[in-house]
Amino acid sequence: MRQNRERYLIMETVLSGIRPTGNLHIGNYFGAVKNFIKMQEEHNCFFFIADFHSLTTHPIPGDLHGHVKTVLAEYLATGLDPEKATIYVQSDVPEIPEMYLLFNMNAYIGELERTTTFKEKIRKQPDNVNAGLLTYPVLMATDILIHKANKVPVGKDQEQNLEMARKFAKRFNHMYNTDLFPEPSAYNFGEELVKIPGLDGSGKMGKSEGNAIYLVDAPKEIEKKVMRAVTDSGPTAKNQDKPEAIQNLFTLLKVVSSTDTYNYFDEKYNNCEIRYGDLKKQLTKDIIAFTNPFREKILEISANDAYLHKVVTQGAEKARESASKTLKEVRNVIGFRKF
Ligand code: AMP
Repeated sequence: MRQNRERYLIMETVLSGIRPTGNLHIGNYFGAVKNFIKMQEEHNCFFFIADFHSLTTHPIPGDLHGHVKTVLAEYLATGLDPEKATIYVQSDVPEIPEMYLLFNMNAYIGELERTTTFKEKIRKQPDNVNAGLLTYPVLMATDILIHKANKVPVGKDQEQNLEMARKFAKRFNHMYNTDLFPEPSAYNFGEELVKIPGLDGSGKMGKSEGNAIYLVDAPKEIEKKVMRAVTDSGPTAKNQDKPEAIQNLFTLLKVVSSTDTYNYFDEKYNNCEIRYGDLKKQLTKDIIAFTNPFREKILEISANDAYLHKVVTQGAEKARESASKTLKEVRNVIGFRKF
């Protein structure tokens, strides 16, 4: 234990989370979880289930509880290891809402209103533009900074929110003349952040967009979804740019298939010989080969309530230890009562 602690002191800290709004899909996997698994080997990692964040879209309570359990089981099934990383549920850490309140005092309405994710959400849920939605980047910054994380493995959609976290860290440090917080950055092992598209022709794959392939999907379901994916009537000239819907299928091919397979279909496309039916069959086969081992594990772990309980109880304890240390420092710097 002591040795572990010393190891952590010299390791960089990593934090990331996923909202419990449904099953994990292959976008979550390639955009986030794949990196979590690699990073837990060499970093002090905190991976959490962002249940406070999911309230910004008002799920019903039964859903929330069920989805927290689902994401936890799926985290573990994909390879997150509670012995290597701290795995916890956001609402199990009361230090988070307190620090969120403090950070809200340093966040300006104008900058929050300008974030792309906020504008997108307003468009999607015009009848539910709640204050939590506006201050989402503040809560996200809190999640990161409460553990003084340096690296945040996220998908491309979170790039701007990460910029906000950096801004809040810098602002706090400047305001209180301290160097308490590091400036965290989005991380993908030096590569471009990933955006996995949906099967509906445009935009990203999302848990509640109806365009996702879930890690837990049965082979038949995957086949149905891929076969229904949007295509067009085919290229009309050689080496023509791929329209978005077609590019999306190639992006999926790139992450689940071999390079040879990708090149084969790319060449067919460039020579105007592509048959989308063949491409979809291959894509189906490769997605199933990729997700099936996860699926079996998910089903097994989901049935083990005692194990799930043990993991989050232990995770909450470790997360609170780290969070309360930072919160104490923050309270001290701000200057709350000391007598
Ligand atoms: P969410 O499902 O929105 O809670 O996102 C959880 C994590 O998955 C975040 O790091 C996102 O950036 C990432 N993510 C979600 N959807 C995608 C996608 N379609 N492509 C790449 N990354 C994604």
